[in-house]
Amino acid sequence: MKQDEKVHAEVRALLPSYVDRSLGQVRRQLVAMHLRRCSACQAEFSRQRAVAEGLASLAAPVEAPPEGLLEQLLENAGSPRGTAPLRGAVSGARPAYSAALLLAGAVTAAGAGYASWVSARSLRRRLRNR
Ligand SMILES: [Zn+2]
Repeated sequence: MKQDEKVHAEVRALLPSYVDRSLGQVRRQLVAMHLRRCSACQAEFSRQRAVAEGLASLAAPVEAPPEGLLEQLLENAGSPRGTAPLRGAVSGARPAYSAALLLAGAVTAAGAGYASWVSARSLRRRLRNR
């Protein structure tokens, strides 16, 4: 059991490099092998990947997300109906939705970061209006 815990810890430590593909081939294969049989580490990997991909799309040319988009995505993510467009996203029928869902996932995972972004923005606004 103790041996297992050590493996989990090692895999978790490697996950960030695994996600950004900077991990060497041997370690990469070890992580991939572990992820296949460990649902806990697999879940952590999915979470980190969603955040990384979401951040990458947030870092795209636009300086800030369009007004209202994030709020709308957060609303969708919080409602049971938000799962409906997932079918279209998986089949690739609605690429726009896939990007939006990716963003929604990242935003949900990085909720704290978004909250601080919003407060920084409103703070800037208040300073400007003075
Ligand atoms: Zn594990």
